[in-house]
Amino acid sequence: MRKTLWPCLAMFLMCLTAACQSSAPVSRLTDQYLGTVISITVNDHASNALIDSVFARIGDIHMRMAVTVSDSEVNRLNRDGAASLSPDTFDLVSLSKELSARSDGAYDITIGPLVALWDIQAENPHVPLEDEIVRSLALVSSGDMALDAGRKTVSFQTPGMQIDLGGVAKGYACDESVRMLREAGVQSAMLDLGGNVFVLGRRPDGSDWRVGLRTPVIGETGTMAVVTVQDTAVVTSGGYERYFESGGVFYHHILDPHTGYPAQNGLLSAVIVSDNATLADALSTACFVLGADKGRQLLETYDGVEGVFVGSDMTVSVTPGLRDKVEITDTRFRLVS
Ligand code: ADP
Ligand code: MG
Repeated sequence: MRKTLWPCLAMFLMCLTAACQSSAPVSRLTDQYLGTVISITVNDHASNALIDSVFARIGDIHMRMAVTVSDSEVNRLNRDGAASLSPDTFDLVSLSKELSARSDGAYDITIGPLVALWDIQAENPHVPLEDEIVRSLALVSSGDMALDAGRKTVSFQTPGMQIDLGGVAKGYACDESVRMLREAGVQSAMLDLGGNVFVLGRRPDGSDWRVGLRTPVIGETGTMAVVTVQDTAVVTSGGYERYFESGGVFYHHILDPHTGYPAQNGLLSAVIVSDNATLADALSTACFVLGADKGRQLLETYDGVEGVFVGSDMTVSVTPGLRDKVEITDTRFRLVS
């Protein structure tokens, strides 16, 4: 199911209203890139030309990294089994391979054949046959991807392997946007690239940002908690937005590389807070697959990375650095740590 524009539009209009209270803010919304809705609100040093250049950069990332763009670098690699990549695409592949090892394979960009098999965005998606899943699973193995950092080449050791950067590219596009805004002198801005939120600096009145965490329940669009932060990314992965239903079961788009099925490890969503949106994006996918306990263990190995884990039993657990920064606003959920 495609992400709907309306909840994002509502949030965008709220940002717009808030932004209008300061001098000359600029807000823009698009659903043209990376298969999602992107909104950017710049509160100071804003100009249409600056926002144009940021969206042009996001468009460039989309053209090179999206699997939906037939001649993207990613698809060239997937088609030929080996390719020389531009430096940033190579870096994302490299970071992803490392995270795959660190997450015991929970996050794995060589998930491509399985993503294609499930094809959740298709008009009539269906549950694949077991032997189709087994065949695709055999191709999921970041260890079988050879990287040459000097030449920026990637080659697959097994024919048929395919990568998918859907779990990390929006975070990278977010970091690039923030970098460009900072270089232009912007001190206050809010970006949302399909659940990859970045709050740059502080709010125009100098206070911390209060970022709403989405209620991770299918069919609902509200927020269940607020996290008070400044100058950081807040990235959410969950199974409540892109999914299809078959025989009363909901099948979502984050796949468990150990089973070949949508991840079911007791979570409704995983939220990562970090000043590095690229890492936060990849880690949110990893943590959603790993579940709360293993996810927390993974986050402990990173400096300056915090997380919120929303369980299917409606419990919310947070890492120590966020303990007094998360406020539950939906009483169906309860904080457990
Ligand atoms: P969203 O794209 O909705 O923000 P994520 O950041 O969690 O959510 O990324 C999910 C996307 O990542 C999927 O649509 C698919 O392209 C890819 N993906 C699915 N499962 C995995 C996985 N286990 N590891 C890496 N990427 C994955
Ligand atoms: Mg992600």
